[in-house]
Amino acid sequence: MSDHHTTNSSSVDGATAAEPTFPPLTGHCFCGQISYVISSSPLAQGFCYCRDCQRVSASGFLPWMNVTASSFTLAGMPKIEYVRGTSIRGTEKVFGTCAHCGSAIFGGQYGVHEKHTVYAGTLDDDSVSRFKPTMALFVRERPAWAKVHVEMKEFDTLPGLS
Ligand SMILES: [Zn+2]
Ligand SMILES: [Zn+2]
Repeated sequence: MSDHHTTNSSSVDGATAAEPTFPPLTGHCFCGQISYVISSSPLAQGFCYCRDCQRVSASGFLPWMNVTASSFTLAGMPKIEYVRGTSIRGTEKVFGTCAHCGSAIFGGQYGVHEKHTVYAGTLDDDSVSRFKPTMALFVRERPAWAKVHVEMKEFDTLPGLS
């Protein structure tokens, strides 16, 4: 839980300088009862084409941004409904949805996991254009009609798995 980036104040050279000021990314669910702020650059961004993500999103794929828990803040008094499944690695996977409107908003359990995936479709209007997907996961489960013409590195399942 103490996995914060610490900035050495005596070190301001280019190699170790803190990230330049990052305009926060913000988003909210369909009904607006849950909103969030992402305060530093996502670690990775892409699409997931697994069947679970297709169902959770009711779409052909789920666009996600991987972020550290310390950079992800849910606002207000969020009522989160967690929907659980099993990942390809046999571990539990958790989707955080709005208990009121049902929007899927992020992966992982808030306050528990050290990283989250945040679903880019929930970004606010002034943030959504900053989503830059670079990898497509689980393309073996991608329906032919869901192929998107964006240049991305493709993986049959996950990086590191066959
Ligand atoms: Zn909602
Ligand atoms: Zn998925």
